Amino acid sequence: MPVSTFEPRRTHPLYSTLLADATFHDLLLDFDQDLAIEARRRRCLLCRGVLHSARYRRKPRGRPAGLGEEHDWRFSFCCARAGCRTRKTPPSLRFLGRKVYLAGIVVLIAIMREGATVSRMRRLSELVGVNRRTVERWRAWWRVTFTASPFWQIARAAFMPPVDQDRLPAALLERFAGSGGEQLIALLRFLGPVTGGRVHAR
Ligand SMILES: [Zn+2]
Repeated sequence: MPVSTFEPRRTHPLYSTLLADATFHDLLLDFDQDLAIEARRRRCLLCRGVLHSARYRRKPRGRPAGLGEEHDWRFSFCCARAGCRTRKTPPSLRFLGRKVYLAGIVVLIAIMREGATVSRMRRLSELVGVNRRTVERWRAWWRVTFTASPFWQIARAAFMPPVDQDRLPAALLERFAGSGGEQLIALLRFLGPVTGGRVHAR
């Protein structure tokens, strides 16, 4: 196993709290609603037709219990014009491509995994119900699939000094300012372009 240079910091317990906090999930939903309104306002990309709601159910894993039914929907639209019917799915701060876990969890668990001891990893697994193999797959996704994506090939040029790709997503999260929650939201926003499923993630 490669030795990580990333020092787990005191922010990690905060992240666990964040993921279990219903108000944080409400906040992410608010952001997604704004993104959906904006996507609808811009109409169909192909024919400029009006968009109708064509949201679909997703039940991502790793969420706190007791979230309302409104959290189970992925905003999506369909062009109303017969003969077009093009689907348009806005970016999301909650859903990362086809991954079955919440986007925030895919980011944070991969980060918390860095330098994690066996016991820490076990507690993490109990918290969000994710096994070690899944976490390893996410790390591989960040380092192989994400880094090869057209989105990242362009976006990475904006970071100076360059982001250490071997330490993704931690190296990316650190580039955003604010508290743990603010940093995470900024990173999820940044990832928006890949959340529509163009970078396929399982
Ligand atoms: Zn259309």
